[in-house]
Amino acid sequence: MSIATATPQEAEERAALISMVRDFAARHIAPVVEELDATERFPEEIYKMMGSLGLFGVSVPEVDGGAGGTVSDYVAVMEELSYGYASVADQCGLVELVTSLLARYGTDDQKSRYIPGLVSGELRASYALTEPQAGSDLGGVKTRARRDGKDWVLNGEKIYIHNAPVADVAMVLAVTDPTKGKRGGMSMFLVDTDVPGVERAYREKKMGQKASPVGGFVFTDVRLPDAALLGEAGAGFSAVLHVLEKGRLGIGALANGISRAALDTALEHATSRHQFGRPIADNQAVAFELANMALDHRASTLLLQRGADLIDRGEPANAASSMAKLFASEAAIRNAGRAVQILGGAGYIRGVTAERLYRDARITTIYEGTSEVQRLIISRDLIASRRS
Ligand SMILES: Cc1cc2nc3c(=O)[nH]c(=O)nc-3n(C[C@H](O)[C@H](O)[C@H](O)COP(=O)(O)OP(=O)(O)OC[C@H]3O[C@@H](n4cnc5c(N)ncnc54)[C@H](O)[C@@H]3O)c2cc1C
Repeated sequence: MSIATATPQEAEERAALISMVRDFAARHIAPVVEELDATERFPEEIYKMMGSLGLFGVSVPEVDGGAGGTVSDYVAVMEELSYGYASVADQCGLVELVTSLLARYGTDDQKSRYIPGLVSGELRASYALTEPQAGSDLGGVKTRARRDGKDWVLNGEKIYIHNAPVADVAMVLAVTDPTKGKRGGMSMFLVDTDVPGVERAYREKKMGQKASPVGGFVFTDVRLPDAALLGEAGAGFSAVLHVLEKGRLGIGALANGISRAALDTALEHATSRHQFGRPIADNQAVAFELANMALDHRASTLLLQRGADLIDRGEPANAASSMAKLFASEAAIRNAGRAVQILGGAGYIRGVTAERLYRDARITTIYEGTSEVQRLIISRDLIASRRS
């Protein structure tokens, strides 16, 4: 259901969804978040619970095995999960991308093989695009899938891939026709990570979002049946574009959950910490920062809702989703920094929420398209509209 066009019943259902996820985050994520941050373990028990609560494949049609919600629902779920812990929201985002692509391009066999396991929390997914020479510019992808009889043979390396250390299945972008470039020359493959030739290269030590494992894959002569190809040969880059807007909004919403958590922790501290005989919030310098934090969170929310609403109505959302992701992620970094400042020395100490949020926020302007790439998209859209 969309924000602008929701009927009273849809609005009620949406409020119930938000309340359910908020309660889940408070009861099951908040109590373990510091432990997850410290140990960096995969939150297995939370992942399984998310599957049973219908928090995977949120906007994927029911007929394809998803929860049958809207992109607006998905954005709301991502913010609430991330308010609990961004690494948990990362998992929701990954399953959303992979199941959306399966629903759109998959054969009946591919859908029934993967979607039920992914949405129930039995299977773990990876979405593998980035390579040493291909980050912002996917035109640099070198991973190659060659035809060999009826099979494909995959060779190459992927880096910085969420869940690479733990995934059961990876959706992998590879070049299938080097003469054609990005459009027409790339294809997407479903690669079971236990097949011969798939190596999980390493696990990165990250600044934040520590319970979302990130690592690399090396593919050496991985033999894949034709049934591993998602959609048509050559449609890989179109598939990337198909989920780009939803992906950006998802990460924008994740950032917004961090923003709201930063505001709440700062507000709590500012009203309870006394210096010079009064709460520090009674100083206008501190109170105005709280106002700025609320403003950044609210503005992000509205941009995210607008982007989701456009997608739900089937309208172009390219620039709108880039604006939402750009603003919400930069706002999350601002708010996490403000929370650290308002907490004073405590904000710099491990085990204190503001310190974790500061680290967790930092990646949001980089993954799922950097801020510079979002500005490129927005400016190109503006310039094109002037010229058309
Ligand atoms: C924790 C983490 C998780 C990730 N998860 C995944 C995942 O699950 N799957 C996946 O495929 N990838 C993943 N990535 C990779 C991520 O999407 C890339 O890091 C990101 O797209 C940027 O690519 P890059 O690191 O190669 O930087 P580069 O593309 O090399 O960019 C470096 C800098 O140059 C700037 N720049 C580049 N081109 C331009 C330009 N034309 N104009 C202006 N500025 C420009 C960038 O904005 C950036 O500031 C993840 C990365 C991290 C760190």
